[in-house]
Amino acid sequence: ELKKHFPLESPIPFVKSRLSVKAVDGVSFDVYRGETLGVVGESGCGKSTMARLVNQLITPSSGTVQFKGENLIGMDGKKLRETRKSIQMVFQDPYASLDPRKTIGELIAEPMVIHRIGDKASQKKRVEELLEVVGLSQYHAKRYPHEFSGGQRQRINIARALVLNPDIIICDEPVSALDVSVQAQVINLLKELQREFDLTYIFISHDLNVVRYMCDRIAVMYLGKIVEMGTYKEIYEDPKHPYTKALLSAIPKENPHDRKERIILKDSVPNPINPPSGCHFHERCPVAMDRCKREAPQLIDTGNGHIASCHLLNEQ
Ligand code: SF4
Ligand code: MG
Repeated sequence: ELKKHFPLESPIPFVKSRLSVKAVDGVSFDVYRGETLGVVGESGCGKSTMARLVNQLITPSSGTVQFKGENLIGMDGKKLRETRKSIQMVFQDPYASLDPRKTIGELIAEPMVIHRIGDKASQKKRVEELLEVVGLSQYHAKRYPHEFSGGQRQRINIARALVLNPDIIICDEPVSALDVSVQAQVINLLKELQREFDLTYIFISHDLNVVRYMCDRIAVMYLGKIVEMGTYKEIYEDPKHPYTKALLSAIPKENPHDRKERIILKDSVPNPINPPSGCHFHERCPVAMDRCKREAPQLIDTGNGHIASCHLLNEQ
């Protein structure tokens, strides 16, 4: 059974949806060409599962993942391999994701070798070009991962993700393992690359403070469901869901006169295998009502391309 799908208006006029996901319990969204969609939630909320689904590393029990008008689910192997070149990933841990026995040149060239693209000479040229593009130097190609800092390694991972000219890059917590100053550099690089190569990003993070500098729209996930989604402005200025409000309250204030109190959530995210009844958030929600234990709220369109699921939205 397909879950209900809520098409959101494109924030970028005349830009068609590039990717459309209608799968997994409560997960349904479009990603528009050239935008950055932030996916936010604590660890265990299903963000990475959603990313693996989009990238066809797992198959959903139901639904579709449409990419440029074609369903990736059930696509035959050869065609899927072709399509998958267009969707690349950058993972969280730049220390773990690069094979220490390979040179930087070999690591960046690897996707071309796997997909048999070009000869040795053209692959070498492409590697050198990409090293410059991500702010490193072609002379780094002969070195090994341990010779680089965390930020430089993430640049190498980004070069590797770019090598096949993708349309979409899924960034799964790409800066979480880095120092704050280095985070800003990597985020700026991602933004520059987006403009230069017309990239679409799905940017996964547990930190709303990181995504605010990066995203056009934001989806907030809780226990495998999108509980709120809207433009950057809507989510930051007019959050509707108590979970989103709690996440936002954890961001350090820029304005010292801002007296909004920090909302502390008790416990951690419950086990997704056996989620709480009714609204999955009710055990931790500071404004839960009786009905929340019994009834699961549906996503409601609150206007301006903003959707959220909370019983309180029906009571206003
Ligand atoms: Fe809280 Fe109830 Fe809204 Fe869930 S439905 S977020 S428990 S108020
Ligand atoms: Mg994760």
